[in-house]
Parts: sequence; C-alpha cells; structure tokens
Amino acid sequence: MPNYYKKLIVEPGSKVKLREIDPDYHGKHESHKEAAATIQKNLEKLDQLQYLMYAEKKHSLLIVLQGLDAGGKDGVVRHVIAGMNPAACRVVGFKQPTAEELEHDFLWRIHPHVPANGEVAIFNRSHYEDVLVVRVHKLVPKEVWSPRYEQINRFERLLASENNTTILKFFLYISKEEQLARFKQRLDDPLRQWKISDSDYKEREYWDGYIEAFEDVLNKTSTEYAPWFVIPANHKWFRNLAVSQIIRRTLKNMNMKLPPPTVDLAEIRKQYHTAAAEEQKS
Ligand code: AMP
Ligand code: MG
Repeated sequence: MPNYYKKLIVEPGSKVKLREIDPDYHGKHESHKEAAATIQKNLEKLDQLQYLMYAEKKHSLLIVLQGLDAGGKDGVVRHVIAGMNPAACRVVGFKQPTAEELEHDFLWRIHPHVPANGEVAIFNRSHYEDVLVVRVHKLVPKEVWSPRYEQINRFERLLASENNTTILKFFLYISKEEQLARFKQRLDDPLRQWKISDSDYKEREYWDGYIEAFEDVLNKTSTEYAPWFVIPANHKWFRNLAVSQIIRRTLKNMNMKLPPPTVDLAEIRKQYHTAAAEEQKS
C-alpha cells in the first residue's frame, strides 16, 4: 500500500504550487472497485482506534476539512467519519459568522468546538475561512487578514501542546471542470437540488483568487504539529482512500492502550458471579 501520508503531506516550509498537482491523481488503484476493500479495512481500523482514544482519554484529534464548493467535504464526513462512534466524535460546520461572532476575534467562535481528551472533532470549514473567503472577497483589509496565518499557527500550537491534540488538515482539491460537472449532477438529482445556490456559480469567477489564497494557507500554515495534506479529490473513492489511510496511520502512531481495569476483577467475579452469589441474588 503506498504511503499517502508521506506522499500528500505539505512539508512545513515548502512552496506548494497547486498547478503542479493533479486533482485526477488516484495512486496505484485504477477504480473504486479495486480500492473498496482497502477503504473498508481503513474504516474498520478507524473505528477500533477511535474506541481506544475514547477509552484512554489521553489524546484528541482535530480534523479540518477545507476545499472549494463541491470539493467533497460533506462526502468525507459521510464516508470516512461516519464509521466512528458518535459518542466521542463531533462534526461542526462553520458558516457565515453571526453579528455577535463578528464582534469578536475570528478564533472566538472556533475555540469552544475543539476536541476534549478522548474526542475527535471534525471541522467542516473552519478558521481558515478567515483567510480564504474573507481574503478573496475583501471582507476585511489586508492588514487584518495577513497577520492571521501566524495567529492560526499559534492557536494550533496551543491546542497541540496544551491539550495533546493531534491536528490533521485536508485540502480537498478538485479541478474547475470537475466542480462544474458536480454542480450539473446536483441539478439533475432531486435529492440534492436543495444544495444549489446562485452564488456557487458566481464563486467560480473567483477560482484563481481562491487557488492563490489556498496556496498561501498551505505554505504558511503547514507545521509539524498541524500539517496540511493536499488530497487529489476528482475521484471521490481516492479521496476517501487517502483521507482514511492518513487518519488511520496517525491514530495508530499514537500507540494508545486500553486503560487497565480500576477494580479487582477476580474479586468482582467472586462476589457477584459465583454460583452461590448468583443464587442468593435470584
Ligand atoms: P456551506 O458550507 O455550503 O454550507 O456554506 C457556508 C458558507 O459560509 C460558505 O459560503 C463559506 O464561505 C461561508 N463562511 C464560512 N466561514 C466564513 C467566514 N468566517 N466569513 C465569511 N464567510 C464564511
Ligand atoms: Mg456551498
């Protein structure tokens, strides 16, 4: 199995040019059919590893999903995250800020949603919108958004060092043609027509601006403690394969263990489960 963690990570300090990355890339598998068993195996392992995290309560995981419209953020939640136990897993979507949120610093609305010990949190959009849509649409002047990369790095370092949070950030990278094809599929699918908005099409005019803004995000905020991965996402199955493999590998490397029982099991057995004890209680 190729190591997609190594292949797709943005090395801290490197200069990514998205033009040089092929959103059609699909590794060694040729089709969903070929990859399906591996994806399934990854999902089973994810479930087991998350159970360990929940039981051990020493680690937490924050997954950030970003991408252009129709890039597959919801798809990753549905196909990769859905296998995890919802008791210790939260998906949080970040939309346009409310009036109250806008009266605070941009991280104010984010911080309450970071994962507690033992938890996994998935951000469907995130604090990165404040250097993406906000920059592309000039919602605040450059003097305001440009210091945010450093502010984000410091925020993420705080989560990693103070609370032992592992952070994985995925940029789901589709081509402009693939985006249009997905919009068209939505148009023809009664179950998904509700997702279409006029602004989705208008946003396409800003495509180059978004690509430039994403490149800055990748180049300025991929760190040892919170790396970015560029996931070629034109093939939904490859996207799911790569994301599930990267999360699986990350969790495995945490070397988590079930905590030992807090009670004397032999004693409990003797007291409540011997023939005599069970007879007495019945
Ligand atoms: P969706 O993810 O399709 O439900 O759309 C959510 C919308 O909220 C997107 O158009 C985002 O660009 C927008 N959004 C999210 N965060 C922010 C933010 N901090 N400032 C402005 N717009 C945002
Ligand atoms: Mg949308």
